[in-house]
Amino acid sequence: MNFYDKMGLTPIINASETYTILGGSLMDSRALQAMAEAASGFIDLNQLISAVCQKAAELTKNEAAFVTTGAAGGIILSAAACICKGDTAKMDMLPVTDNFEKNEILIYDGNFHELVPYWKLIKLTGAKIVSVKPSLDAISEAVNERTAAFFLFPASLYEKGIPACEETIPVLKRLGIPAIVDVAAQLPPVSNLWYYTRQLGADAAIFSGGKHIKGPQSTGLIVGNTDFINSCKLLASPNCRIGRAFKTGKEELAGFITALELFVNESEEDKFNRQLLLLEEIEKKLSLNKELHLEMIMEGRLGTHQPLLLVTLPKGKTAKECNQFTRNSKIPIDIGVYPPEFEMQEDVIFLNAYNLNSQCVDIVVNTVLEYCKA
Ligand SMILES: *Cc1c(COP(=O)(O)O)cnc(C)c1O
Repeated sequence: MNFYDKMGLTPIINASETYTILGGSLMDSRALQAMAEAASGFIDLNQLISAVCQKAAELTKNEAAFVTTGAAGGIILSAAACICKGDTAKMDMLPVTDNFEKNEILIYDGNFHELVPYWKLIKLTGAKIVSVKPSLDAISEAVNERTAAFFLFPASLYEKGIPACEETIPVLKRLGIPAIVDVAAQLPPVSNLWYYTRQLGADAAIFSGGKHIKGPQSTGLIVGNTDFINSCKLLASPNCRIGRAFKTGKEELAGFITALELFVNESEEDKFNRQLLLLEEIEKKLSLNKELHLEMIMEGRLGTHQPLLLVTLPKGKTAKECNQFTRNSKIPIDIGVYPPEFEMQEDVIFLNAYNLNSQCVDIVVNTVLEYCKA
C-alpha cells in the first residue's frame, strides 16, 4: 500500500500547471536520492547552507544566491532585507519599523493585486506598502526619503496595463531605488535565472523551487548581489529572526540544489521538445474526434517558453465542466482551465505536458474524449 493509499487519497494526473494546490511538480529520482542521502547524517548546517547557496549562485550565473522555503519566503526575506539593509539591530526589531529611516515599499497599482496576492506578504515585515499609479512618471512622485524598494511582479498577464519591468527597472536605477522582482513561475527559459538581475539590473529576483525547477515544494531561491543576499542570510534560519519561522532543512537544501543543477543542465531544446512530443501525440489522438478544434501554441500562459495544446470543445461543452468530469473520473486528471482574467472562450481547455509522462497520454486522451461524448 503506498503512502497516498494509506492517507485515503487518489493521486491526480497533472495536465494543467505547476499549481501549488496540486503539489507543484514532481522531483527527479536523483533529487529524491540526494534528499535521502542528506537525511542519513548530521552536518554543520551553516556550512551546508553556504555550500548550497554558493553552488546556486554559480548555476544561475549570479553574484550570490540564497535558498529559502519558497518564493513566498523569498518575498518576506527580501522585503526585510530592503528595510534593514545589513543592520542586525534593525533585523531584531522586526516587525516594528516605526523608527526605521526607510520602511516604505512601492508596488504598482494593477489587476495583479488580485491575481497574485503574494505582495501582501511584504507587510509581515512591518514595511508599509505604497501603491504607485501604473506609469513611469508616477514613480518619481511616489519616491521619498522613506522609500526602501520597489517590488515588481513581471509576467505577460500581470503586466497588462502597467509598465513592463524592462521599462521600470532603469527608472528605479536612476532614482537609486532597489528593484526586487518576484518571478516565481517565470521559467523556462532557464536564462531568466540571470536575466532580471544581470541583464535588467534588478537587485534581487525570487523563484519557486517547487514549480518549474522541480525541487521540493517547500523550497525557493533568491538571487542577487552579495550585500543583499548576506542580509537575507542574516534574517533567515538558523538565526533567530523573522526567517526562523520558515526554515530550510538539510534534506530540502539537498533536493533543491540537485534539482536546480538538473534544470540548468538540461538543454532548453530538449526540455521544450520533450513536452512538444507528448502534446503532439495527444493532438494526434484527439484529432480522431472531428468536433474538436486543436491548436498548438508555443508559449506558456504567463509568457514562459513551453508549448501548450489548446482544445476547443464541442458545442455546449465548457472547460470548467470538462475539468469537473476529468477530476471525478476513476483516474483523476486536472486539465487546464483558463481563469476569467485570461479572457479566453469558456469552451477552451489547455493541456500542458510539463508534468506529464508518456504513460499518461492515453488516459488524458480517453478521459477528454469520454467527456466530449457524455
Ligand atoms: C507561486 C508564486 C509564489 C509563491 O511561490 P511558493 O514557492 O509557492 O512560495 C509567489 N509569487 C508568484 C508570482 C507565484 O506564481
